[in-house]
Amino acid sequence: VIVGAGECGGRAAFALRQAGYDGPVTLIGEEPHHPYERPPLSKAILTDDNEPSPRWMSLPEALAEQRIEIVTRTSVNAIDRVGKRVSLSNGQSLAYDKLLLATGALPRALPMAPRPSERVAYLRNFSDALRIRAHLKPDSHIAIIGGGFIGLELAASARKRGADVTLIEAQPRILMRGVPEAIAGVIAERHVSEGVQLNCGIGLAGIAEEQDGVVVTLADGRRVNADCVVVGIGASPVTGLAADAGLAIDNGIAVDRLLQTSDPNIFAAGDCCSFPLDIYGGRRVRLESWRNAQDQGPLAARNMLGAAEPISAVPWFWSDQYDLTLQVAGLADGAASVVRRDMSDGAFILFQLGGDGRLLAASGIGRENAVARDIRLAEMLIAKRAHPLPEQLAAPEVKLKALLAA
Ligand code: FAD
Repeated sequence: VIVGAGECGGRAAFALRQAGYDGPVTLIGEEPHHPYERPPLSKAILTDDNEPSPRWMSLPEALAEQRIEIVTRTSVNAIDRVGKRVSLSNGQSLAYDKLLLATGALPRALPMAPRPSERVAYLRNFSDALRIRAHLKPDSHIAIIGGGFIGLELAASARKRGADVTLIEAQPRILMRGVPEAIAGVIAERHVSEGVQLNCGIGLAGIAEEQDGVVVTLADGRRVNADCVVVGIGASPVTGLAADAGLAIDNGIAVDRLLQTSDPNIFAAGDCCSFPLDIYGGRRVRLESWRNAQDQGPLAARNMLGAAEPISAVPWFWSDQYDLTLQVAGLADGAASVVRRDMSDGAFILFQLGGDGRLLAASGIGRENAVARDIRLAEMLIAKRAHPLPEQLAAPEVKLKALLAA
């Protein structure tokens, strides 16, 4: 039984079949849809000229062909670990041999506007995207709270549809978490040149919905009049079900290197779980990234069948804004030293090296796919625990592929 029919749960279901499991597989999701991709929700779904539909991760026919039973519009309310059963919101209960929790994450709520309303939106699922999309038109004004990935991608999409955008970020700069300042600077400059009103280092005093709009008051008294406010201030892992069942929680459902929770019959994967990463000395992390969900679903599936395969993937994330693509591989630590490699057309990569010279992370920015190949190679160097020389990393004529072979 798989709880959560998102990227991770969906991939896990197919992977069970690929690994040769022949018994029943049930995928239970509270959304009305079968699994679909979330990254387009802040991108193409908002900017498509035609009325959009979800970008399906799997079609019902593919699920049926693999004999994966999908139960939509239904949540799992409780786990009976002794009886090995889950109870569903439709009143039924279901027995499991192995259970995978792929419950994802939900947007963090802003205390002064904790719930979505007519003019205050959060973005996590397809219907959120449709509601926001309805406000994105020339002459409308969107206020975005939060200069993280979701807020910034939304700003770019809103500008593409001709809406005015004011973005408010409490931190001194956008993308404070996980993106080096020089790269955040390029992204900020681009938003400003596209006409986004960017306000960093300023808090909120209030949000008031009025009949024909919403007023955001900043801490310095300035007022921003908008047709719609979208809050993008981060996400929290969905752990309630696991916590109620007595499973260990530590910034997400705590799993070991095999994605097993504190109950050997229950696994967790994707945005909802935190796990130790061997390549970073066992550091416990939780990732909210599409590829992580895509990798961990199948890994959990194989391990539920007894493969005992540890997590080995290097964290990787991308974001598209205008024609810029940012990619980040690995995990930096605060003390890392930074080496810059300039490429053509303004693209560049920042490599972060640990005190012992080991490559820990690489972040790149450029138009379209400009940095994709080198970030992929950097990811392989990180996986190899390589210690490339800073002067070689800095020199664009030195091929990363050659460093990998060295
Ligand atoms: P989810 O996709 O959240 O799926 C979990 C599912 O479980 C949900 O459908 C939820 O309703 C369901 N569920 C929860 N509890 C229960 C329950 N008790 N019973 C039944 N069902 C339950 N990542 C990138 O790397 N690059 C990007 O550009 C990018 N863009 C993004 C844009 C947006 C707008 C969003 C929201 C995310 C984006 N991501 C991006 C992140 C990526 O989409 C997520 O990391 C990925 O979807 C996580 O997959 P998941 O299956 O773990 O969780």
